[in-house]
Amino acid sequence: MAKRALITGITGQDGAYLSQFLLGKGYEVFGVIRRSSHRGVEDHRLRWLGVADQVTLLDGDLADLSSIVRIMQQVKPDEIYNLAAQSFVASSWQQPLLTANITAVAVTTMLEAMRIVKPEAHFYQASSSEMFGLIQEEMQSEKTPFYPRSPYAVAKLYGHWITVNYRESFGFHASSGILFNHESPLRGTEFVTRKVTDGVARIKLGKAHELRLGNIDAKRDWGHARDYVRAMWLMLQQEKADDYVVATGRTTTVRDMCRIAFEHVGLDMDKHVVIDPAFYRPAEVDVLLGNPAKAHQKLGWTAEISLEEMIKEMVDADLQRWRTAVDG
Ligand code: NDP
Ligand code: GDP
Repeated sequence: MAKRALITGITGQDGAYLSQFLLGKGYEVFGVIRRSSHRGVEDHRLRWLGVADQVTLLDGDLADLSSIVRIMQQVKPDEIYNLAAQSFVASSWQQPLLTANITAVAVTTMLEAMRIVKPEAHFYQASSSEMFGLIQEEMQSEKTPFYPRSPYAVAKLYGHWITVNYRESFGFHASSGILFNHESPLRGTEFVTRKVTDGVARIKLGKAHELRLGNIDAKRDWGHARDYVRAMWLMLQQEKADDYVVATGRTTTVRDMCRIAFEHVGLDMDKHVVIDPAFYRPAEVDVLLGNPAKAHQKLGWTAEISLEEMIKEMVDADLQRWRTAVDG
């Protein structure tokens, strides 16, 4: 019998790559999709990866417990991946209550639905390196104290601890993956890597001249989403649930990431990048650097795709998109 996986956030970057990965392992994949007036475009990432026809999408919203309970009753999943969230840090200052409702409280909605319908399922919570925020150790591991710096990070901290709490209270197989930034050609264009690769493609094709960015001194530990969804799955295959940092162990400034993208198409970033304070944040996370030793030792996981390979893949994909865009 094929295993059944339920993914919230299946229409997002990680949901698409995780679907592709699980289908490759022979899973039946189900996903929660929320109603939109733009019916037909929500699954664009799944279509980009060529897997839209192989997954079953079920109407629901994390703000609505009853919809989630009904979906769980219908699917009876062996594995639940809770990837849905208001996931953009900058928006969390604009919509702090929505962020709290979906990114924080709705984790309990998922755990409660599982408690009612399928308490023996294995549960994955998408936690974030943003929880380290104002870093308390140079390299952040599972033991590093948290110091969140945005409403998003505060909400993720709740999601992390409620997952740990249900594991300790009810013996749930519930794991929290503390994932550092991970990107791909399917990353939203509001995030800095994709904003850069999309901007570089437009500049290269003569459709734009400048790229406006905020704090390019910020440093991130960037990996590829395709590598990181493998770590999620590995966590749920362990005998015991646990928490894991998933990272590359290398940190790079936004400036240097940007330079890689511009140089890939033979352009000089200094001629095109404009610093715009509109993109500064009320509180910044200056630097993140993860220590993936535990994931390596216990899960046998390592990041395989380098930052350079990933940024080049993203620029090439954006060039391709803009070359074929009808309204471009
Ligand atoms: P995306 O922003 O690409 O995807 C978010 C998903 O959540 C979308 O499918 C979205 O649906 C869904 N969603 C949002 N609100 C609701 C709701 N009320 N009900 C149901 N679904 C909802 O995020 P990523 O794929 O990049 O990230 C996946 C998870 O991992 C997120 O929780 C994120 O916070 C976390 N994370 C991501 C990191 C990264 O670097 N990518 C790093 C660490 C953690 P819709 O398409 O309808 O908007
Ligand atoms: P985050 O780490 O989840 O906030 O991922 P982002 O990709 O949104 O931002 C990563 C870093 O890039 C943060 O320190 C931002 O302040 C910085 N940054 C600089 N310019 C920009 C910009 O124009 N857009 C975004 N999204 N981030 C920027």
